[in-house]
Amino acid sequence: MKRKKQVFKLGHIKIVKLYTCGPTVYNYAHIGNFRAYLFYDILRRYLEYIGYEVKHVMNLTDVDDKTIRDSQKENMALKDFTQKYIDAFFNDIKILRIKPAHIYPKATDHINDMVDMIKKLMLRGYAYRGDDGSVYFSIKKFKNYGKLSKLKIKKLKAGARVSQDEYTKQEAKDFALWKAWIPEDGNIFWITPLGKGRPGWHIECSVMSQKYLQSINIHGGGVDLIFPHHENEIAQSECSSEKKFVDYWVHCNHLYVDGKKMSKSLGNFYTLRDILEKNYDPVAFRYLCLSTHYRSQLNFTFGSLEKAKTTVDNFNEFLRKLEWLQKEKSDVRPNHILHKLIKNTKEKFRNAMDNDLNTPQALASVFNLIKAVNIAIDKNTADKRTLQAVYKFLMEINDIFDIVEKESAEELTAEEKGLIEKREQLRKEKNFEEADKIRNALKNRGIILEDTPQGVMWKREK
Ligand code: AMP
Ligand code: ZN
Repeated sequence: MKRKKQVFKLGHIKIVKLYTCGPTVYNYAHIGNFRAYLFYDILRRYLEYIGYEVKHVMNLTDVDDKTIRDSQKENMALKDFTQKYIDAFFNDIKILRIKPAHIYPKATDHINDMVDMIKKLMLRGYAYRGDDGSVYFSIKKFKNYGKLSKLKIKKLKAGARVSQDEYTKQEAKDFALWKAWIPEDGNIFWITPLGKGRPGWHIECSVMSQKYLQSINIHGGGVDLIFPHHENEIAQSECSSEKKFVDYWVHCNHLYVDGKKMSKSLGNFYTLRDILEKNYDPVAFRYLCLSTHYRSQLNFTFGSLEKAKTTVDNFNEFLRKLEWLQKEKSDVRPNHILHKLIKNTKEKFRNAMDNDLNTPQALASVFNLIKAVNIAIDKNTADKRTLQAVYKFLMEINDIFDIVEKESAEELTAEEKGLIEKREQLRKEKNFEEADKIRNALKNRGIILEDTPQGVMWKREK
């Protein structure tokens, strides 16, 4: 709203009421949409990490211009049509390790509430019935109209109307709250005190956010939603409640392909299914989104996805190394320099995240630490307490990032363990030829051996 960073403050109740615009369920969500949902996930998880309780509501738009158009194209009942994509959405967010919101209200379950809000707006003089039977919001009646998108409405023709859900700033006009039935709507309508018809898209979010959160602390969405969707949400909510609607607005930038916004209408999109079919790791996509600041554009390439995969693998390998080293019996002198570096890293991490969720900077400080610890491990100067502290820190921040492999690699069989011990013995006896034979035999089973100053480590080949 203010076009600059604001200090986030909450009253004494430490519950953050978070509302984020959810999917329009007329197709599989594409990875651009998931960038937005991953951003909400990180925002919520970080608030929880620093001690807030968060109540997160995310709507499902299951009736609007697009769901109606495409359900008719497919010759399916609207409910069956949207359910297919609702199921896919929940499946996809699970794969991407997105924490589910606490409530996912559906627009079609709240038609009566929408009618009530529209009636209130009419009663208060903010809305009127057009000659087409639909009900419109009169933007000139709300003096703050345009405050979020910084739109100047003085030049607009009074009474000009727009009935479709999506339009641009140039077309800013009185917008539809309730759309009277037209033959193109087929059998999609509700009979209500406002007549036969259906709600506009924008009223859905005003009604569902008010119902489940009353007022909102943080409202999120992609930048494309600033106008008209969020501008209209403000108008509807503030005029019906006469209260401030939202304390803080956060919008994430888009995911781009070849310099263009990924979108269904341009046809330049990949769904999560496309990514999985190409055998890419969904956690790598999660990481890719984290490694770019949410307000910057993210130019998607498969090369960058592969790089993200390598980073995630290295991170996990490092954790396994720490697990293994902590089990080792021998220890070295306390490494004060490393200990100090951990403290420093924690501070840098927290500062970066507190500063408008600067995930790339936070991650850079973490990887700096990992690099220094790796060097110390190679020199055999990393003591166990330090390694435990690093491990604990990385597992803690994984509550936010969630990139750690879920199931640890299977244990070795007794025979495999025996082979490793035998190879160690052979190496001590300087019988490197026989030792290498064992290494190769294990490699053929997908077990890679790595000789470190602390002894031999193993990992499974990916
Ligand atoms: P929709 O299903 O079109 O209503 O969009 C759902 C969410 O995805 C909204 O918050 C949009 O702002 C967001 N979104 C759509 N396209 C992109 C993109 N290419 N990159 C990032 N977010 C997007
Ligand atoms: Zn919305």
